[in-house]
Amino acid sequence: MSISVSQKELIHMSELQANISGIIKSSVIDGPGNRMVIFFQGCNLNCMYCHNSHTIGLCNMCGLCVQNCPTQSLKIDASNKHIIHNTSTCTHCDSCLKNCPENSSPFYKKMTVDDLISEIIEVKNFISGITVSGGEVMLQAKFLHQLFTAVKKHPELNKLSILVDSNGNTEQNKWDLLLDWVDGFMLDIKAYSPQNHNRITGYANEKILKSIQYLNSENKLDEIRFVLVPGFNNDKAEIENISNLIQSLSPEVRKVLIKLRKHGIRDKYHYLSEPTQQEIEQAVKILKADKHQLIVI
Ligand code: SF4
Ligand code: SF4
Repeated sequence: MSISVSQKELIHMSELQANISGIIKSSVIDGPGNRMVIFFQGCNLNCMYCHNSHTIGLCNMCGLCVQNCPTQSLKIDASNKHIIHNTSTCTHCDSCLKNCPENSSPFYKKMTVDDLISEIIEVKNFISGITVSGGEVMLQAKFLHQLFTAVKKHPELNKLSILVDSNGNTEQNKWDLLLDWVDGFMLDIKAYSPQNHNRITGYANEKILKSIQYLNSENKLDEIRFVLVPGFNNDKAEIENISNLIQSLSPEVRKVLIKLRKHGIRDKYHYLSEPTQQEIEQAVKILKADKHQLIVI
């Protein structure tokens, strides 16, 4: 029997896979209510203060972690281009994550939409929604489209809300692919000036600034977050620009100021300083120069 084009497309769609670095079945800090959080592997920024730097890169099978694991818990599966992890001998020392030259991990795995739907179904009665986070989720926007469509069309899952946690560094056509399926997007602004942004992340912020304005204009921006990094984005002009940006957004958008915390960042960035109380108060004073609520965490 010949397969029609639409059948072929369906088969192709169901075969789409995403690189998933982890799943938390229940979280109360990734959006409103109790949520399942799916973390995607791979990012298109390289922030100095990243607390999950092992989710930035993709594994190139160099084998370094396999050679250096103190409990020989890792093995290369060359035919499947995959690292096998023996969970019964692993001591969770994290040496493989800290020493990977690609900022990657031997633990992330490929999952299909069906795999994730099964995971969501297991906890559907205990959660109010799902949040996708990273890494940078929009690098896998096509897969997200398939996943969100499947959730919203599923008779047992269609009441779940969908939130997307993104760095915003993507093009408008990717947002357009997801707008109809997503309840809200949570974005970061790492710095306003391109120079400061480049120092913090290694990349420009042109697309991010456009993304913030676009999602706001579509009433889909749920939250905007700004991490205060002394010496990198806390001078008066920089915070005034961030303040102007925040004030241009809808009052409905949650605005969050996050204090840099050094715990969990890569050793090479331990020279960064956490903001003092005075530095936080100065930033809050400028950022709150309007009627908008500002959450400080
Ligand atoms: S996880 Fe990192 S160290 Fe291990 S094989 Fe992959 S790239 Fe190499
Ligand atoms: S966490 Fe430690 S013990 Fe476990 S696989 Fe990685 S290096 Fe080996």
